[in-house]
Amino acid sequence: MQVRAHDFQPRDLVAGDVVLDFVNTVTARDTEPIDWLDDYAALLSWSVLADLPPDAVARLASEAVAHPRRAAHALAGAKVLREALWELLRHDQAEDAVARLTESWRSATTAAVLTGSAGRLEPTARVENSGLAYPEHFVALRAVRLLETLPSVRLRVCGGRHCGWLFLDTSKAGRRRWCDMATCGNAEKTRRHRSVLRP
Ligand SMILES: [Zn+2]
Repeated sequence: MQVRAHDFQPRDLVAGDVVLDFVNTVTARDTEPIDWLDDYAALLSWSVLADLPPDAVARLASEAVAHPRRAAHALAGAKVLREALWELLRHDQAEDAVARLTESWRSATTAAVLTGSAGRLEPTARVENSGLAYPEHFVALRAVRLLETLPSVRLRVCGGRHCGWLFLDTSKAGRRRWCDMATCGNAEKTRRHRSVLRP
């Protein structure tokens, strides 16, 4: 898979769920996939947009500078999780992917604490316990929660060319086709318009 530096923007997180947004850090899965996480700093830029706590991200930024090899290892771990999630979301019984998610989830759970209020608690990743694996742990915990309840009829792959992004279709009619109407939806419209004009 090609790896390319990317300047993450809010428009890169349009899936309706942070777990799918993380899977979408590989774009163009329908053609020639490009991995936008070229280094640990890129993972942190994404984490900011994914609303991970800013103080945790700042802490990880300095830790990554101090321990570049550990940061590279943590990035590799996050990508293993990401690809496992992609397989799981695209195929029903991907045993190997389940095993990889289990591994991430287990280490996330070991490092997590229960937060919330009495009656409604959930395991929450803590940067103090997870260290550089914090983004991976965050996604792993959220992924298990999503997969417990994911209505598969609402999981879509964008129809745009060179996109392949996953998203949750939360529209009333359930007919959303594009990750983002402003990008893929428009590109398709333009393409169709052009082919109509061409004799
Ligand atoms: Zn798209």
